[in-house]
Order: sequence, then structure tokens, then C-alpha cells
Amino acid sequence: MNNLILSLAPKFTKLESLILRQDKPQLEDNAVETIAKYCHDLQDLDLSKSFKLTDRSLYALAHGCPKLTKLNISGCTAFSDDALAYLSGFCRNLKFLNLCGCVRAASDKALQAIAYNCSRLQSLNLGWCENVSDVGVMSLAYGCPDLRALDLCGCVLITDETVIALANGCLHLRSLGLYYCQNITDRAMYALAHSRVRNKQDVWESVKNRYEEEGLMNLNISQCTALTPPAVQAVCDSFPALHTCPGRHSLIISGCLNLTSVHCVCAVQAHRTAASLPHPAH
Ligand SMILES: [Zn+2]
Repeated sequence: MNNLILSLAPKFTKLESLILRQDKPQLEDNAVETIAKYCHDLQDLDLSKSFKLTDRSLYALAHGCPKLTKLNISGCTAFSDDALAYLSGFCRNLKFLNLCGCVRAASDKALQAIAYNCSRLQSLNLGWCENVSDVGVMSLAYGCPDLRALDLCGCVLITDETVIALANGCLHLRSLGLYYCQNITDRAMYALAHSRVRNKQDVWESVKNRYEEEGLMNLNISQCTALTPPAVQAVCDSFPALHTCPGRHSLIISGCLNLTSVHCVCAVQAHRTAASLPHPAH
């Protein structure tokens, strides 16, 4: 694969999208450097699981591919936070960034640089980036107001402060992953629920968004064992797109045994329908 890229990249100077996902890591820095040298229009690049790549690749992309809007470097464990911060200064149009498993690259310092440089960011995956703390994610909450999807699964240092900042700063948030963020308490849930109520009061905002789906559509709070049913029910009531019913799991609470009493709007409707039907005994 590496040799193929070395020979083909110079011929595809107008390339806009390149998916190089690998099962066995084959890609090396010289291939990415060749891509960056010739494919200046590249907007979408997937380098996931390229374990062999080093910071050389990120520096080359920063200089050669400033139009990148979508970058997947999930599982690229060798990248450093300095190189990622550097890239964010050149690729300022980034909207989709997947850093899942980039434990070294995804530091608070790198997230602060991303928040400063990439204000149009819409989707960020920080899954299992266990060095990330409130400092980094809160800077994103205030620097990237367009954020729609944020996965913080396994970011064990994250506390309520991050969720409160997201509830205040990211009014377009549709999807939030908090799997295994065990510091999260009811305070975070009430902040989310109240952000919805507050947004609803903004009449002009609701007119503007009338044809848009509003509010959280996906929330994963699996293994957030400190949460209690009233707080999670408040979130569920605030966002009708959140479902706990079979087949539409958009509020994921598996592993939270104490949350089995939380129900989505379907359960209420089913109850009403059952109550309004003539009782078979009469
Ligand atoms: Zn439902």
C-alpha cells in the first residue's frame, strides 16, 4: 500500500477525498509526505490505525493540505500534542476530527489550540483519550460553538464542569458520548436539561430552527454510575428525540442498573393509548 501511494499520489493532484483505513498498518511517513506534496485540494483524509506514522506526517499535512475539513487519525498513537496543535494552526477549516485513541496527541494543550484555531469544528471524537481533562474540553465548548457531536467515552478525568460548559456554549449539540465518565453526576444532567428549556424560550431561535431537528438526539451515559433516575429523566423529558425504547436506543444507559426506571416519551404514549382504549372486560 505504501508504494502504491508513493507512485499514485503525484498523478492525483486534484484529489479531494482519500480513505487509507488499514487492518495491518502499512502506511509510512513518506507516503503521507507525498500526498501532502501533491494533493493540495484534499478535504477528507482517513489515516485511521496508521500506527507507523510519526509527527512528520502531521507537519507535512499542515503545510500541504490546508483545505482539510475532515481528518481521521484514530488509533495513530505515535502523534504528539505539539504536532496536532501545529496542524490545527494551518488546517483551520477542520469540521470533523477523529482522535479516538490518540492518547499522546489529545492533550489539553492540543485541545486549546484546536479550540482557538478551528472554530468551525462540528464533530470531535476523543474516545479513550484519557489525558484529556475539563481544561481542554471546556476550551472547546467555548471556542467551537458549532459543535454537534462530541465523544468523550473513556475520558475518565472529565467532570460535570465540562458538561455544564457544553450545555452553555454548544447550543447545536446533537450527540454526546460520556461512556465511562464516572465523575459525571446529576448536576451535569440538570445542566443539559435546563439548556433545552432556556433555548426554547428564545422565540427567534426556535423560528430560525423550525425545520431543523433540535436538541440532543444521542446521549451515551453507560457506566456513569453516579447518576440517579430523576436527573436522567429530566434530560429525557427535555429532549424528545432521546429514546430508551427497544430499537431506538438513543439514550444509552446500559450498565446503570439504578436507571431502569427512566423512560422515553414512547412509554408515556403507550400508557395513554392503553388507558384510552375500551377495557376488554366492559
Ligand atoms: Zn421511545
